[in-house]
Amino acid sequence: MIAINYVHERERMVREQLEGKGIRSVPVLQAFRKVPRHLFVAPGTEEFAYEDRPLGIGEGQTISQPYMVATMTEALELSGGEKVLEIGTGSGYQAAILAELGCSVYTIERIESLSMEARRKLEQAGYPNLHFRVGDGTLGWPEEAPFDRIVVTAGAPDAPVELLRQLREGGCLLIPIGGERRQDLVRFRREEGRVTRQTICACSFVKLVGTEGWPEE
Ligand code: SAM
Repeated sequence: MIAINYVHERERMVREQLEGKGIRSVPVLQAFRKVPRHLFVAPGTEEFAYEDRPLGIGEGQTISQPYMVATMTEALELSGGEKVLEIGTGSGYQAAILAELGCSVYTIERIESLSMEARRKLEQAGYPNLHFRVGDGTLGWPEEAPFDRIVVTAGAPDAPVELLRQLREGGCLLIPIGGERRQDLVRFRREEGRVTRQTICACSFVKLVGTEGWPEE
């Protein structure tokens, strides 16, 4: 069996899938060079960790495609030190990227086993200081609000009002909005008391299930 050179694979991913497709932010590209994505995929799928596609992580959920994680991270326009709420911990990979960029990360996952596994992987990968919650992320984390940034990594029918409420003045909420299979990635900004809306790109995420999301099946 030939051992995989993950550092080499990661560099290839950054050059071909991120830089090659238009990701320009140097800090974002550096974060993707550092975070070991193969630690966040399901056991047995490590050899596909640096391919340009989402992968199953169990419970019918996915770790998102690297390019989409990078697009979302770049669209958050971080300068380091922001307090960020992530909805949909999943594998923990997006949370690791945010931590690598110097953010204070609060992350909510509705499926307890995924949250537990993500916590274990984040510690193993060297990111021990994140804040985890198991529950319905469409309700946000009121005790810790306001947040500088909120990123939702599952597709919703519309922006949860409670998340917009928990956004700091000058902050933004990034969320896939649309149907059950296809959405638009939308950025909401809270500026001078007003909320503006901008579409970034088309995307396809698993469903945001909850009070202000899709109903549970
Ligand atoms: N950010 C993740 C990563 O880096 O691996 C990918 C997230 S995956 C595409 C979407 C996640 O959102 C799933 O783990 C799903 O269980 C979770 N989810 C769906 N609805 C949720 C809700 N209301 N609150 C919290 N998590 C939710």
